[in-house]
Amino acid sequence: MSAVEDARERGRELAAALAADGVAGLIIAWADNNGIPRSRTVPVAALPQVAVSGVGVTTLFSVFDTNDAITFAAPGLQTPSGDLRLVPQLDRVTRLAGQPAFAWAPGKQVTADGDPWAFDQRSVLERTVARLDEAGYSALVGYEMEFGVFEQPQDVEDDALVRAHPGPAYSPHALLLIDDFVAAVMRDAAANGLRLGQVHAEYGPAQVELSLAATDPVTAADQQLLARQTVLAAAEAHGLRVSFAPLPTQAGAGNGWHVHTSLWRGGENLLAGTAEGPRGTAGGAYIAGLLRDLPAVAAVTAPSLGSLARIRPGFFAGAFAFWGVENREAPLRYVPGSALLGEDHANLELKVSDASANPYLALAAVLSAGMAGVEENLAPPAPIAEDPGTWKKKERAAAGIEKLPASQAEQEEALSASPRVTAALGEETLGAFLAVRRADAAWGQELETEEVLAAWRWRY
Ligand code: GLU
Ligand code: MG
Repeated sequence: MSAVEDARERGRELAAALAADGVAGLIIAWADNNGIPRSRTVPVAALPQVAVSGVGVTTLFSVFDTNDAITFAAPGLQTPSGDLRLVPQLDRVTRLAGQPAFAWAPGKQVTADGDPWAFDQRSVLERTVARLDEAGYSALVGYEMEFGVFEQPQDVEDDALVRAHPGPAYSPHALLLIDDFVAAVMRDAAANGLRLGQVHAEYGPAQVELSLAATDPVTAADQQLLARQTVLAAAEAHGLRVSFAPLPTQAGAGNGWHVHTSLWRGGENLLAGTAEGPRGTAGGAYIAGLLRDLPAVAAVTAPSLGSLARIRPGFFAGAFAFWGVENREAPLRYVPGSALLGEDHANLELKVSDASANPYLALAAVLSAGMAGVEENLAPPAPIAEDPGTWKKKERAAAGIEKLPASQAEQEEALSASPRVTAALGEETLGAFLAVRRADAAWGQELETEEVLAAWRWRY
């Protein structure tokens, strides 16, 4: 059977199975360069055709900024002309437990002829994973997702933030007020094929966190999008409103989407080690590679004006470039294995990461920076156990610790200066990504931080 016939046949089977289950539509979703999920929904009866040729979307989605304004400032995307096909990934079709009339699948953007589209973010990560594979490596990725939970207002225009739980932080009592919602998230996540590690009332007011079990990078990015859909549907059903924004309001806690990665070769976790750090040189080199490119990586993993507002010293969000062992203030926190947890538990957590990152681009940046460290056999500096934010400026300078980029211009400079991260994104995607960052920054220039945060509170 040809690939086209095969896809049509699978589309037919899925259409029949979904229709028999009472499913009306398939949501085909992707994340844009602002980390905002976008989608097209097709009737399930159209699946035999959509599985083959996708659904038409504009080329300009790559240059939508966070406000849905289109910037025509990226090379290759300067006119309103052009059309792409958004093709659902059939092996990822999931019936949504919280929206039983819908199924969900991540989409890939290809040209009208079915050729790869240089601006497609999922393909960027697929290429990174293929490069790792060719070199004999693989990676595991697990996300933590923090979010604020608020009461749904009577009037959608009403933006008053009524906290859905009063704390105390980490208290089981805090979650009592929203236990139907939490139960729905847990049940629906399991039904949607998401493996939750845990759920808890987080530190900030009305904040909740869930974690997803580690998996391969593309699946981790797909699942991070599916988890958002799952949580939002449960919130809607329970009269609640969820903010995934990096910083919903300056008065509250930031929502970090910390990402845990480990690099493997021949079934061995190269990050395996102890409280001293990774045992082998490759694990240390992975950390050193990420540390070298951290300003550029952060420009992709925490790229928005909201991200920049979130990254404040002393908030466990990682404001200075350094690494530490189990250091909660470090943007790179090494998590060793232990006798209890086993060697394979070891990983590196990146804290400068949030919902405004496109997860595919973010993981491509992280893995490429770490992998380059391994290829060049870099050695990391000694880990730091303290919070350098509490040190004097000259103590930080003596230790070679710098602040991470704190403005869009600084982020762009850092990104442009990293040949490894720019190569991972590719010229076209990088151009579009920078264009929307500049558009966002120009829009935010005259606004107070709180106004920016309010405008983007519900966008992710
Ligand atoms: N909410 C913090 C952040 O913005 C993280 C707190 C924690 O360590 O879990 O990343
Ligand atoms: Mg947390």
